[in-house]
Amino acid sequence: MTGIKHSRQRDAIRDNLRSRSDHPTAEMVFTDIRIRYPRISLGTVYRNLGLLTELGEIRHLPSEMGADRYDGRLEPHSHFICRQCGGIQDLPPVKAEILRDSIGELVDGVIEESRVVFSGLCSVCFREGSE
Ligand SMILES: [Zn+2]
Ligand SMILES: [Zn+2]
Repeated sequence: MTGIKHSRQRDAIRDNLRSRSDHPTAEMVFTDIRIRYPRISLGTVYRNLGLLTELGEIRHLPSEMGADRYDGRLEPHSHFICRQCGGIQDLPPVKAEILRDSIGELVDGVIEESRVVFSGLCSVCFREGSE
């Protein structure tokens, strides 16, 4: 992509995401980045997260509940999402190709991408619910 200036803040945001595995929200990234860049705004963090997603340097994980999450891990992997706290855990990639062949026959078109997401309760939320 042309016309995009190199930005140290954007590098810091990308590095922050790559160094953690908790799939943070924009606000969580903002809290960390502010330590090094006290004058950065939440809007700037959002803008840069959007740009990094467009550039394919991070992954945007839209959330059906609460704030969207971001992932610095690009290699294929699956996610487990807690429906209570929204926490995301990494899982090995699920071999979606197996499904793809059988599901592909049902699709009026061509499947280009498939994502398998598991959801439920994380151990913390599960324990809270059973107390
Ligand atoms: Zn949870
Ligand atoms: Zn992930």
